[in-house]
Amino acid sequence: MKLVLASGNAGKLAELRALLAGSGIELVARSAFDLDEPAETGGTFVENAIIKARHAAAAAGLPALADDSGICVDALDGAPGLDSAVYAGEHGADAANNDKLLQALAGVPDDRRGAHYTCVMVLMRGAADPDPVIATGRWRGRILHAPRGGHGFGYDPLFLPDDGGGLSSGELDPVLKNRISHRGQALARLRAEILEGRAP
Ligand code: IMP
Repeated sequence: MKLVLASGNAGKLAELRALLAGSGIELVARSAFDLDEPAETGGTFVENAIIKARHAAAAAGLPALADDSGICVDALDGAPGLDSAVYAGEHGADAANNDKLLQALAGVPDDRRGAHYTCVMVLMRGAADPDPVIATGRWRGRILHAPRGGHGFGYDPLFLPDDGGGLSSGELDPVLKNRISHRGQALARLRAEILEGRAP
């Protein structure tokens, strides 16, 4: 069984391939099909993941897997949310995004700095699949007052997870982060769905 990954990220491809080892599913990179990226016009992570999975399934003629993720801050009504990658303007400008988040929370005390990362993974058996497999992971914590740690990416130096033993997600060992994070949780749920025969 072949499955196309609707992401150009080599790290995600490697992580997902490891997860699917032994399942009989072969994950094919998006680059094998010369796919363009659809406009992410949804209003939620799950809508955007479905848009990406459907687009890849239609273009490749195969079942497709897509994910969407971001960080939602309670005191900012869920922002940066869907705009996590482009919060400060330029796509993936991590330092500028972190600066903007710190400014938005200037003067906000610890007990009102709650936040969570979300990751949604969607598996569509074909572009017209009416009942995709949807696996969600949420990772709770709070936003620090200054960056800590050199691991990870994005908002990791500013995120203090509730279950990180006092370390920021930028200080956590990357193997541990990948296990307990929003992405790790979503992957574990997706794997369970696949192993229990509900997907693909
Ligand atoms: P995407 O789902 O790969 O497009 O990620 C969206 C954005 O959310 C990233 O560019 C990061 O800013 C943020 N993000 C998602 N997951 C993480 C994470 O595990 N650590 C840090 N930032 C993340």
